[in-house]
Amino acid sequence: MTDIAIIGAGTAGLTAAIYARRAGVETVVYEAESYGGQIINTPEIENYPSVRNISGYEFATNLYEQAVSLGAKVEFDSIVSVEGDAASGFTLRGEYEAEQKARAVIIATGAKNRHMGIPFEDKFTGRGVSYCATCDGAFYKGKTAAVFGGGNTAVEDAIYLSALCSKVYIIHRRDEFRADAGLVSRLLSLQNIEPLMSYVVKGLEGQDRLSGLILESTKDGSEKSIDTDALFVAIGQVPSNDVFKDLIALDESGYALAGEDCFSTCEGIFIAGDNRTKKVRQLTTAAADGAVAALAACDFIRSNS
Ligand SMILES: Cc1cc2nc3c(=O)[nH]c(=O)nc-3n(C[C@H](O)[C@H](O)[C@H](O)COP(=O)(O)OP(=O)(O)OC[C@H]3O[C@@H](n4cnc5c(N)ncnc54)[C@H](O)[C@@H]3O)c2cc1C
Repeated sequence: MTDIAIIGAGTAGLTAAIYARRAGVETVVYEAESYGGQIINTPEIENYPSVRNISGYEFATNLYEQAVSLGAKVEFDSIVSVEGDAASGFTLRGEYEAEQKARAVIIATGAKNRHMGIPFEDKFTGRGVSYCATCDGAFYKGKTAAVFGGGNTAVEDAIYLSALCSKVYIIHRRDEFRADAGLVSRLLSLQNIEPLMSYVVKGLEGQDRLSGLILESTKDGSEKSIDTDALFVAIGQVPSNDVFKDLIALDESGYALAGEDCFSTCEGIFIAGDNRTKKVRQLTTAAADGAVAALAACDFIRSNS
């Protein structure tokens, strides 16, 4: 039996491990892929306080080494089930390893951005194609950007980018936006935004970096090209919570129901990072959740021992 099992070695999970170890608590972190989570392949991070510019790989490696140097155990295994309760403890099962028992569990499994599934999407990711306007918008100051999507996130992204970029296209497959009416009217009031309704992105153009898009009409299949320096894909995120759906409550989009205190609906289970219900999904908020969840889990263990 360990004290705290943390599922996910992204920013939230590794920050939780740092706080738990500094509180003197036994900690095992499980990671399904490589440590670092979503940020690992990002070439540049410019919005983490006190760090002016760092690659995602270096950021993640620093975090991993900090957690390990404080005594966190990291096991590379995908957790496929968690059972139990606050009174008797929880049992985690990995895909490869034997089971692990823990007094408290922090679920920090993050989310994955939905991709367009078109040719060269991976090649241009980080070279013009981005899934996060808040993260990467500043790299396109004074340039042309396009946003693909029609919900609140896409419209908010386009409004955010309009303050930075000289021109912003917003491409949506329907003839009306799905976003809230207030947001849509703000969007349409902005001079440098051009909505391209009833189109999808069919192709990406460019040599080393993105330079343009091929759009296909959803009405008649006709095609047209636009020049752009960036494409922000905002067609949704998929939280990695499926494994836990019988243990904790999820909202209709699959995010774990948990507030700023990181308490899940199951006593002894805490949620940290992008996989919980919240508005801003960033490194700073993931790290904050990691700290809050770890300290809450430590309190839970102490009050139950
Ligand atoms: C391309 C890109 C660029 C970004 N740039 C920035 C930026 O510049 N600044 C910024 O603040 N934010 C940025 N973000 C957002 C930021 O990366 C996320 O907010 C942050 O990574 C969330 O951390 P997390 O720990 O909650 O989740 P994640 O980073 O998603 O980590 C979750 C981890 O859990 C693991 N996992 C999932 N399921 C299981 C399981 N069943 N068992 C074991 N392990 C599991 C995953 O493999 C993953 O490693 C960017 C995101 C992307 C995609």
